[in-house]
Amino acid sequence: MFNTLTERLSSTFKNLRGKGRLTQADIDATAREIRRALLDADVAVPAVREFIAHVKERALGEEVSEALNPGQQVVKIVQNELEEILGGETRNIQLAKNPPTVIMLVGLQGAGKTTLAGKLSKHLKQQGHTPLLVAADLQRPNAVKQLEVNGERAGVPVFAPHPGVSSEHEDPTGDPVEVARAGLEEAKTRQHDIVIIDTAGRLGVDQELMQQASDIRAATNPDEVLFVIDAMIGQDAVATAQAFNEGVGFTGVVLSKMDGDARGGAALSVKYITGKPIMFASTGEGLDDFEVFHPDRMASRILD
Ligand code: GDP
Repeated sequence: MFNTLTERLSSTFKNLRGKGRLTQADIDATAREIRRALLDADVAVPAVREFIAHVKERALGEEVSEALNPGQQVVKIVQNELEEILGGETRNIQLAKNPPTVIMLVGLQGAGKTTLAGKLSKHLKQQGHTPLLVAADLQRPNAVKQLEVNGERAGVPVFAPHPGVSSEHEDPTGDPVEVARAGLEEAKTRQHDIVIIDTAGRLGVDQELMQQASDIRAATNPDEVLFVIDAMIGQDAVATAQAFNEGVGFTGVVLSKMDGDARGGAALSVKYITGKPIMFASTGEGLDDFEVFHPDRMASRILD
């Protein structure tokens, strides 16, 4: 846990140990290093500002443990604060009282939604559920096929809008809202207890995308809307999260591409901006590269 930031701070404080309580001067001296560490981790500027104000308030007057110096003590407070913010509301998928539970995935194109759909369906299947994947991303030419491949690998059926798919419901048109609606009906008929709806993304946020996602949400009344965001997105995390939060609304966040070298600042930014819990992390292209989100690991990674 004592990492790069601690080393930096420790050199600021040399070997002072157990010198009573943290003072304003101690905290001010470390705030700059903390700010730099958070910005290096790509935490958005407003989130950094708010976070530091919080830590300053919390640290003032805190006792410095015998084993630590003031710099290490502040890092410990920062680590705890990060864990609390990232994990305050950590929770699992909320299941509907009357199945099927509907989970809708939203996010920019390339964020990792289709990949996540396969991973999440496998994860839920392993927990004894009987998910159905619904291919309502009709924007990207390959998305339906990609979901079918993922579904096959996960051993989970896929409801897709083209002939040849065995369905008791009529083959829906090319309208994603109709596909989502028909997929939900299919799940009810075939008694799947969970439906995962993959939706289209655009390269940038746009009105049409938001409207379509909103329409799908209205048509299927999901229990969870998961916002999938690429951890590498950096400072753009704020604008993107805000746009989806206002345009569609979501209940939880999935951080994808955590196997890359992003330090995960997007996690903190999104949590600060939207207050929504981070639920899962995607850590690779394979179906098993998927984790329930660990706030402590993320806090260490952000500070590293
Ligand atoms: P979508 O447009 O949101 O459905 O995004 P995709 O699921 O198609 O993912 C876009 C690209 O990112 C694909 O090449 C995926 O294989 C890749 N990808 C998705 N999730 C991850 C991840 O966690 N790690 C890595 N390294 N690649 C990922």
